[in-house]
Parts: sequence; C-alpha cells; structure tokens
Amino acid sequence: MPAMQKKILVVGGGIGGLALALACARRGMPAQLIEKKAVFSEVGAGVQLSPNVVRLLEGWGLGRRLDALACFPALLQVRSAQSAALLGQLALGARAVQRYGARYATIARADLHQLLLDAVQAQGRTQLLLDNALQLISQDANAVQVTTADGHQRRASVVIGADGLWSHVRDFVRTDAQPRFSGYLAYRAMVPQAALPQALRSEVITAWLGPKFHAVQYPVHGGEWLNVVVIVQGEAPQDLHHWDHAANTQDLQVHLQGAAGALQDLVGAVTAWRLWPLNGLPHLRSAKELAFGRIALMGDAGHPMLPFLAQGAGMTIEDAASLASVLSTPALGDVAALERYAQARWRRNARVQARAQRNGTIFHAAGLQAWGRDVGMRLLGQRLLDVPWLYAAP
Ligand SMILES: Cc1cc2nc3c(=O)[nH]c(=O)nc-3n(C[C@H](O)[C@H](O)[C@H](O)COP(=O)(O)OP(=O)(O)OC[C@H]3O[C@@H](n4cnc5c(N)ncnc54)[C@H](O)[C@@H]3O)c2cc1C
Repeated sequence: MPAMQKKILVVGGGIGGLALALACARRGMPAQLIEKKAVFSEVGAGVQLSPNVVRLLEGWGLGRRLDALACFPALLQVRSAQSAALLGQLALGARAVQRYGARYATIARADLHQLLLDAVQAQGRTQLLLDNALQLISQDANAVQVTTADGHQRRASVVIGADGLWSHVRDFVRTDAQPRFSGYLAYRAMVPQAALPQALRSEVITAWLGPKFHAVQYPVHGGEWLNVVVIVQGEAPQDLHHWDHAANTQDLQVHLQGAAGALQDLVGAVTAWRLWPLNGLPHLRSAKELAFGRIALMGDAGHPMLPFLAQGAGMTIEDAASLASVLSTPALGDVAALERYAQARWRRNARVQARAQRNGTIFHAAGLQAWGRDVGMRLLGQRLLDVPWLYAAP
C-alpha cells in the first residue's frame, strides 16, 4: 500500500506521539492521533536535549523555534554536592557541534511540547482527537481495530503506542511487564532566575553528586528560568500512577544533610516543589518487546528509562524518526515495517536504559565508592562525560 494511503493511528499526544505525527507528516503521511486528555498539556519541568535529538529536530525544520525557546549551555559541569568542588566538565556550545554534529539544548517540557504541536498543526496532515482514551485493540491479517472509552471504533493499518509509562497499548504487545517503583523520587521545580540571588543564577548545566542523592540544574525558557531537579532515594507515595505530587522543601532538606551551602541555598530558594516517583520496567531484551504484528511501542510505553542520562524524551524522538522512515519505505509491508523499526531500535534503547541505571548507582554512591568516583571524575572528567556513541548517532 502506498505510504500516503496507510492509516496510521498514534495513541498518546505527549512528546513522542507528536514527534511521530510530525515526522510522518513531513514524509507526506497523514495520521490520526488519539489523546486521552481533554486538552494538550505538559507539566512544568525541563528536559535536556542532547545533540542526537537536536539534530533530528533541526532536520524537521524546528531550529528557529528552538533558538527562540531553548537554551544552549556552553558547559556541563559536575560538582561534589558536599564540598561544591568542581569534579569534571564537558565543553558543549561550538564544541558539541564540532564533535557530535549538533548543539546541546535545554528546554521546558511545555515549550518542547508546544513547539511540536504547532509544527504538527502547521503541516495539517494529522487528525488530533482529544478526550479519546484507548480501551481495546484487536488485530487480524489486514488491519487493527481500536475502541476508545466512548465506544467509538476505528480501523487502522498500524497502531503506535506512544501512551507513556502506564501504556495500555503495551498490554497488546507484551504481557510480562508491569512498571515498578525504582526507589528514586524526583523533586522538580522551575524558578525565575530574576527571583534568585545573583550567586545562584546560572547559564550552564550543573550536576551535583552526593551520597544517596544528586541534583541537576539548567536554564530554560531562553535562560529566564532555572530548572532544578533533585533525585533522592526513598519510599513510594501511595498513588504511583500519578507523576505529579505536591512536595515541600523541608522533606527534601532531610535528604540533603551535609550538602554544600550553595546547593542548600538553591534548594531553599525554591518555594514550590513537585514530587515525581520514578518507575521502571525491566530493560528491553529483544525486538519482540517493541512490536507485535501491526502494533508497535515507542518512548516510555516501550522502554521507560531512569533520567540519569537525560534521554527519555530523546529516545522517543529518535523512535519517531525511525518509525516514520520505515512506514514510508515503499517496499515494506506494514508488519515488516514495524519489525524493521523494532530491530533498528531495541539495542540502542536497551543500552541507554542500562547506562542510565548504572549512572544512578554512580551518581548516588556513598563512602569509599563516592571517593573513587570523585577521583576518577577529577582525572578523567571530560573523557567520562564524552559519549559520542550516544550524542553523534543515530
Ligand atoms: C525527573 C525526570 C527528568 C527527565 N529529564 C529528561 C531529560 O533531561 N531529557 C530527556 O530526554 N528526557 C527526560 N525525561 C524523560 C522524558 O520526560 C520522558 O521519557 C518522555 O516525556 C516520554 O514521552 P512519551 O511521549 O513517550 O510519553 P508521555 O510524555 O508519558 O506521553 C504519553 C501520552 O499518552 C497519553 N495517554 C496515556 N494513556 C492513554 C490512552 N489510554 N489513550 C490515549 N492517550 C493516552 C497521555 O495522556 C500522554 O499525553 C525525564 C523524566 C523524568 C521523570
């Protein structure tokens, strides 16, 4: 079937689903996108977009909007959360373009989401259906049938699950995977830089490594705001399905005893924290876990990852580019196209999941292990932070 006649149905209008709709539209393929929420929205927090992702976004014609909304920090620095001493750093800016082929950006999630949504709407090839929660999927040799919560039925050539960590589409691809609490809690906040004392304002990315916690800060909204995330180890809140819980500074400060004054001051300057319990799935073990017949998974639906490598949104955007490429390949039938996608993506996603998990152990090391980490970082900082296999691909 010619690519333009395929009926592509995307479930989920987060960063991944919108990226896929856009990538398809740019190749001339229309799509339907169903989103369970009544309005498109993204919570207030930031994401880092490494060069592997910025390259794709620029290739989709989004470079100018990125220039307006994102920041392009010149430096990633790693500090001891206890002494504030600089342990290592990686030059970004022009060096990132030279070494990895694109810039390194930081952006508010809402800005990235809006940028993708505007681009999808400007292309005019995607039917965006809000207030449409997927309920059931069945497939036969010729098509997939999808039923939404209002009882409406739709037929499609392929269904792509971009419905996040608690994916319902995943139940129709693999049955062995239920998200579990990882033991990590993320406290997140965004503050106007103007509301911070001069000494706490920043234009670079800083990661603070402490015993059993770490913090990351970087500018967003064109540099006017600072995104701050502190990840600690602790008990899961009652309602795991909810990402977003109100949190307070006192609870967080309990985890930061012994932290350097500069970090304590930054945490103390934030008035409104949100708490996100971090959940995970076992890492991908084969292509079969990403596609079954005419149904495929992308992003957090297929391979949620801990944020210790800042790649969750990045990998879902890479998935989108890969899916649009296989779906528009004339020689591939629908099922073969999704198999090709799963084969192309599962190893890289599994590698990033594993590396993120390992980083968590290193970032939160205590005692002798923390001492070894800090020595290693001081001696080899730039080499350890430089990951061309990730940033210069795909
Ligand atoms: C603390 C933290 C820091 C992070 N930092 C970074 C970073 O620096 N860089 C980075 O790249 N990534 C980062 N991430 C990861 C990134 O945010 C996620 O991986 C990414 O947003 C996943 O996008 P997605 O589109 O796959 O899923 P989601 O954003 O979860 O979107 C899923 C969508 O599907 C909809 N949906 C769900 N169920 C249904 C249904 N039944 N029917 C219809 N629609 C449905 C939802 O409403 C939602 O709109 C971070 C994550 C955390 C928690």
